[in-house]
Amino acid sequence: MNHFEYRGGALCCEDVKLADIADAVGTPAYVYSTATLERHYDVFRSAFAPRDVLVAFAVKANANIAVLATLARKGAGADTVSQGEIERALKAGVPPDKIIFSGVGKTEAELAFAVQTGVHQINVESIAELETLARIAWALKKKPAIAIRVNPDVGAGGHEKISTGKGDAKFGVSPEQALALYARATDDKNLDSKGLAVHIGSQIRDLSPLEAAFRVMRSLAEKLRGEGIAIERLDLGGGLGVPYFNEPDPPAPAEYAAMVERVFAGFDIKLSFEPGRMIAANAGVLIARVVRLQDRPRPIVVLDAAMNDLIRPAIYDAYHGIKPARETNAPKQAYDVVGPICETGDTFTRNRMLPPLEEGDLVAFMTAGAYGAVMASTYNARALVPEVLVRGDRFELVRRRWEVAEQLTLEKLPPWLEEA
Ligand SMILES: *Cc1c(COP(=O)(O)O)cnc(C)c1O
Repeated sequence: MNHFEYRGGALCCEDVKLADIADAVGTPAYVYSTATLERHYDVFRSAFAPRDVLVAFAVKANANIAVLATLARKGAGADTVSQGEIERALKAGVPPDKIIFSGVGKTEAELAFAVQTGVHQINVESIAELETLARIAWALKKKPAIAIRVNPDVGAGGHEKISTGKGDAKFGVSPEQALALYARATDDKNLDSKGLAVHIGSQIRDLSPLEAAFRVMRSLAEKLRGEGIAIERLDLGGGLGVPYFNEPDPPAPAEYAAMVERVFAGFDIKLSFEPGRMIAANAGVLIARVVRLQDRPRPIVVLDAAMNDLIRPAIYDAYHGIKPARETNAPKQAYDVVGPICETGDTFTRNRMLPPLEEGDLVAFMTAGAYGAVMASTYNARALVPEVLVRGDRFELVRRRWEVAEQLTLEKLPPWLEEA
């Protein structure tokens, strides 16, 4: 469910025409719906009621502080994977005690920052990280809350590059190691052992791998308690898929929550979740204009958006629905849709049936609110794409376009080239 629909023939985000946003801020631009963000958070959170769960939005899916603040006002926490993401979450008003810090490559400086911030939980991914963190905690005279990230050896996810739970993936430790590591952390007076964490992948369309992973988590927690070791939390990660195609919808949050209740029935433990895509994907679109039509047996539509603005088709072969901003009943025809960048990878889709398009037409890439703007770059010396947040009949530019002239102020010639 989302709030992008045609009204009187014009594609709108809530009560605002996308064409009006394009006129105001130019294209390409990301546009997010407050109502969709809030609704997805509410649906997910309330699916677990009356259980009190922490829903920590995965900042890497959409890191704009206006998006984070929208969710934070509803009570969301933040799942972060870098100091930068923690800083963004704090700036957006997420309380430190709702921030989870995950990731395999946390540097000492980042760990120290998280310890000083007093985050809800640091998810430790290896023995080496545990030792480093204990040393940092001792030096700072703090006792950070930690969880051990378990790799349950369950593969899942919409693409090999976004699967994280197989035994050979770089994430977490094996279930046996996790028990040993957790026990060791519990003995360490510099650490506050709280629980175990898992996250097996992204764009998961089938509950069974998640259920298998969650059963591993429950049995590990039971084993620990059986040995007299206290454990109060399980962090069950994110990963729930969203519909990108016109294909059967992925499991709804209610089905997911019912599965969780099945796995944890009769087991008293605090649960947290880290949904990213499920909250943000359908809450955003990327708007772009047709720059040119190349006359081929199958015409090529060249847009002013490119792979640097939306890279998912290039790196994950991802599918995004494409809708013209002006509704039409004209018969569809096959197009290739590309951006202007000088590589063949800059192709959004081939042989897509779309209504007739002309130079200057505005189109929207649907389901672009997650892993869209966060992955944008300035490749090909392009401006960094701006972001707009809509709420009802209002909209605001929440990240302005970073123009090339501004980017150039970061660069300089070395003295030996200036002298010439
Ligand atoms: C990426 C990530 C998430 C979010 O995944 P989604 O598929 O967007 O829900 C959650 N937790 C961790 C540790 C992650 O790396």
